[in-house]
Amino acid sequence: MKYIIGNWKMNMLPNEILNYLMEYTELVKDVENISIILAVPYISIFYANNFVQDTNVQIAVQNISAYKKGAYTGDISAEMVNSFGIKYSIIGHSERRTHFFETDEIINEKVKRAVENRIVPIICVGETEEIKEEGKTLEFVKTQIDKAIKDVDFKEVENEIIIAYEPVWAIGTGKSCDSDYAKKVTSYIKEKLEARFENAKISVLYGGSVTSFNIKEFLEVESISGVLVGGASLNVDEFAKITKA
Ligand code: PEP
Repeated sequence: MKYIIGNWKMNMLPNEILNYLMEYTELVKDVENISIILAVPYISIFYANNFVQDTNVQIAVQNISAYKKGAYTGDISAEMVNSFGIKYSIIGHSERRTHFFETDEIINEKVKRAVENRIVPIICVGETEEIKEEGKTLEFVKTQIDKAIKDVDFKEVENEIIIAYEPVWAIGTGKSCDSDYAKKVTSYIKEKLEARFENAKISVLYGGSVTSFNIKEFLEVESISGVLVGGASLNVDEFAKITKA
């Protein structure tokens, strides 16, 4: 399965989201055979999810709590997300790692909470510019993945594993990754996971300054099963172009 996932981060007011969805669902209504997913801010989940019923678009969340339930003011649990019929959550985005100090251990707990509640985690990994310069990207992303999926039983989500390779230096910078480099990293991730999980459906996505101008380079790479798009997903026409590509 190919994926196109928009990550709106902390952008768009609820009324803007409904206007966007009205236009977007119309623009992409004939797109088939790919999963189109929009990770919207929590406050708009309910209306956005109701709106996309009977369309080819699905709604995801951008994060979930590492805890099951209880005294965790401000957090939202995987069980709550599941109760809305939401099937995907981004987990471990580099902005969560950097601004909210999420460690690999916290991310592992979040992945477990997601899977226990039949939510497929879209696990984000990726190196900083410094790690890239040191030539340590492969070992770095492998460690991030190993820690994120430690003791996770993917059977709960029908063995669906989604990893988004998002080099930190490419996120929101306009400096997208060279497609040969993206190929090297994504094929490495795919190989490692395939060797470890024989019957899993493994999808490795690329994210980092994807636009309608560069999307084709990434989709031509065999080991890349789709893209995670931040900034460019905020513009409805641009995101529709990316989706149709
Ligand atoms: C992201 O936030 O996941 C992302 C890839 O952002 P951008 O497309 O803006 O680089």
